[in-house]
Amino acid sequence: MTVPPATLRHHIDGGPVTSGTQRTFENRSPVDGSLVSLVAEAGADEVDAAVAAAKRALRGPWGGLSVADRGKLLHAVADEIDRRFEDFVAAEVADTGMPESFARTVVIPRGAANLRFFADFVRNLPADTFHLETPDGAGALNYVVRAPKGVIAVICPWNLPLLLTTWKLGPALACGNTVVVKPSEETPSSTALLGEVMRAAGIPDGVVNVVHGLGPDSAGELLTRHPGIDAITFTGESATGEAIMKAAAVGVRDVSFELGGKNPGIVFADCNLEKAIEETTRSTFANSGQICLATERLYVERAVFDAFVEGLAASARALKLGEPKDPQTRMGPLISHSHRDKVMGYYESARTGGAEIVTGGGIPDLGPALAGGSWIEPTIWTGLGEDSPVVHEEIFGPCCHIRPFDDPDEAVALANDTDYGLACTLWTENASRAHRLGRRIDAGIVWVNCWFLRDLRTPFGGAKRSGIGREGGANSLEFYTETRNVCIKL
Ligand code: NAD
Repeated sequence: MTVPPATLRHHIDGGPVTSGTQRTFENRSPVDGSLVSLVAEAGADEVDAAVAAAKRALRGPWGGLSVADRGKLLHAVADEIDRRFEDFVAAEVADTGMPESFARTVVIPRGAANLRFFADFVRNLPADTFHLETPDGAGALNYVVRAPKGVIAVICPWNLPLLLTTWKLGPALACGNTVVVKPSEETPSSTALLGEVMRAAGIPDGVVNVVHGLGPDSAGELLTRHPGIDAITFTGESATGEAIMKAAAVGVRDVSFELGGKNPGIVFADCNLEKAIEETTRSTFANSGQICLATERLYVERAVFDAFVEGLAASARALKLGEPKDPQTRMGPLISHSHRDKVMGYYESARTGGAEIVTGGGIPDLGPALAGGSWIEPTIWTGLGEDSPVVHEEIFGPCCHIRPFDDPDEAVALANDTDYGLACTLWTENASRAHRLGRRIDAGIVWVNCWFLRDLRTPFGGAKRSGIGREGGANSLEFYTETRNVCIKL
């Protein structure tokens, strides 16, 4: 296992770089508040150097490679992630405090899988050709070429770092772009490792650059404002998306946004209740609710309302909070004290707003060793109106509000009554009802009797304030490539 270096450095033009300014920030463990690492903070010089290196690589070694050769290199990166699997698990757990079992079974394997998927997908793409009939009878052949868009800024959040970063890196690189990645300031470690892995796998210098730093007035803003950036792919809060969109407007650069959610779940009396409770335990509390697709609002048909609430509360109480290494641990802390303060604000608002606190609602006492961490109890409320901020704002914590409904149309209207549109879960054994209602939900994905299950060829993204554009399979090509039409008169 690699011990994190004293100061995490940027990865620019194939090698580690410290900040000229020697500015650093602290990366602290959310488990107990201990220092994980100091991290170099990029200023304008480092961002300039990273963008320039990416530009050179685009015109040079990367641009000259065939799709097949790029694909082989991406496979080599995925193999290298597998080889350093334990280092990646350690890095992700150190930064996020997520249970090691979750990093081991979900986050790190998906990191490698994303790269392999896009390497193969892009290699096997068909090309569009059209034969145009012309008055002289000879015709013209039109064929569509997909060219890389250029240097892509990849701005990532902290909740599932390697999974979300490679979800963007995979298609960006497979399509022939070069990138400058800015990981979240809360979770720089696995992306720093990714820089090392790129080099070990033989990715040419400058193709993947990593700059560390914060968002506003720091590396994030410097990168999105940089004129050498051709397009920006961003995952994070909707409000940050608005700020980045303004930056992207200068130079008319394209954006792809995966933003926040306030995802509903609809539970019908005819569902497999045991399964609905088991999966809703995951969809609400996995990664301490810090998943954009997490369920924070539930609408349950009145006949099974009490049974569902009691069942979910029992599941929530049974979740073991604790050290990430403990195989019994099911829930980690929130990412930081400041995020816990925000989530506790909603817990307080639920209390003062008259919610019934079915379970949780506070900060757990996990003993002196974990007292410095940002722990919080899994929490369930009932009894709030839809106008409560708890019910219509994204909390991004291990919590949900549950309300009964009597009529399917009412449930759909409640589910859709939100500024967001990322995901929804439907629980019913009535297949035709699932078909009828599924298409009426304003969300990028509707899961019926499941959650967090998706073929990577399908479109992923959000409606309304949850995003712009879709990534996944061929949808990723819309953002990561420019189509050019070559028209040949025969
Ligand atoms: P955030 O928006 O605070 O930060 C995300 C990234 O943007 C960080 O790297 C940050 O440094 C950077 N940033 C912040 N301000 C910036 C600016 N002005 N210019 C450039 N960069 C800037 O989000 P977060 O708190 O890290 O992540 C949680 C949010 O992400 C939640 O809202 C969640 O729903 C969302 N999310 C969405 C998806 C999805 O697929 N839709 C997936 C994961 C997380």
